[in-house]
Amino acid sequence: MVKDLLPLYYDNVCSDDSKRMVEEHLVECEICKIELDSIQADIKLSVEDC
Ligand SMILES: [Zn+2]
Repeated sequence: MVKDLLPLYYDNVCSDDSKRMVEEHLVECEICKIELDSIQADIKLSVEDC
């Protein structure tokens, strides 16, 4: 599930729809939330390239 989410979350750099999907999932999935928190630093750095 996390592997499915990561591309979506990365995609939220450019897409509000993807961001919403991921955030809705994170509300009910603590595992993905933790996993994404651990890589959030990398994602934020990538935002600069959008
Ligand atoms: Zn999940």
